[in-house]
Amino acid sequence: MDASQTQRKIIHVDMDAFYASVEQRDKADLRGKPVVVGGSPQSRGVVCAASYEARTFGVRSAMPCAMAFRLCPEAVFVRPRFEVYKAVSQEIRRIFYFHTDLVEPLSLDEAFLDVTHNKSGNPSATWLANDIRAEIFKRTNLTASAGVAPNKFLAKIASDINKPNGICVIPPSRAEAFIATLPIGKFFGIGKATEKRMHALDIFKGADLKRFEEADLIRHFGKAGAWYYRIARGLDFRPVKPHREAKSIGVEETFAGDISDLDRLQQELDLIAQELARRLQKRNARGKTVTLKLRYDDFSTITRAATQNQFINDADSLATVAKSLLRNSEAGRRKVRLLGITVSNLANRDLSAQRQLQLPFGDDAF
Ligand SMILES: [Mg+2]
Repeated sequence: MDASQTQRKIIHVDMDAFYASVEQRDKADLRGKPVVVGGSPQSRGVVCAASYEARTFGVRSAMPCAMAFRLCPEAVFVRPRFEVYKAVSQEIRRIFYFHTDLVEPLSLDEAFLDVTHNKSGNPSATWLANDIRAEIFKRTNLTASAGVAPNKFLAKIASDINKPNGICVIPPSRAEAFIATLPIGKFFGIGKATEKRMHALDIFKGADLKRFEEADLIRHFGKAGAWYYRIARGLDFRPVKPHREAKSIGVEETFAGDISDLDRLQQELDLIAQELARRLQKRNARGKTVTLKLRYDDFSTITRAATQNQFINDADSLATVAKSLLRNSEAGRRKVRLLGITVSNLANRDLSAQRQLQLPFGDDAF
């Protein structure tokens, strides 16, 4: 193993029940109550966030609001206020950038920070994480939890361990022992389906996973097998990627009336491609992957993607790829109510050379 790769100091910061906590902060009458951020219980919407009081009833994000209501009829349902959440998110990020430029936001309320080198010159990532949590509370009146570890995989798991308003530190020397006892379902990147397949192979904990040869894991799980092999050993070399730019740019159009004519649909793609090209060029962005989104009249939605060898951002190229993807759909035979084109895999001007210099450190400086 290349030791310098594992000697990073990574913090994963995660706000506690973010949207719900913002609502409870701003509306005194919601404090101490089960709060569900999402649509009304009658709506077909899903729960965006649930306060800790609501979670004790089993309410979870992404659950239909109607189900949340059945689990917890006394819950207060509030509409999300994304503008407010975004403003808080920016405030938190300013605190992160005060300490390091290597910030990788995962969503409005969580981010990885590489503080191996930091602007405060603080040798202790644990100290920094607590500083950051204190500063977040001071400025926003909201609590955050943090995980501190030598890599992203461990930091992400750690931030969840002492939630809410807690911190968990996994220094390099404890990484392997920590993973050995970790239930496989808690592994980042192992979902319910994979968990089940691992259980069938008698893999329940990190230690069980570690008994498998890399080749066997690849045979069972494909490419992901190589990743499982490494994380069973606490090895995650993924750098914190500071992306302040959008990961994708897209344009979509819902038609006034459903369209079944293929020529009409191709014309619409030309228009969408022109608008998309305009937006890409305005941002000086180009991308390699073009995704066509198509919604049929019964609201079933499909996406088809193709990755090019070169970065593109002109309307003709975009339209050409989108039209070829359209041919892989049932457009023309079924009515279409929406078309969209998205470009991802963007050329990112922001990824300046990351600092490679690593200082030696042991657990005491972690
Ligand atoms: Mg959170």
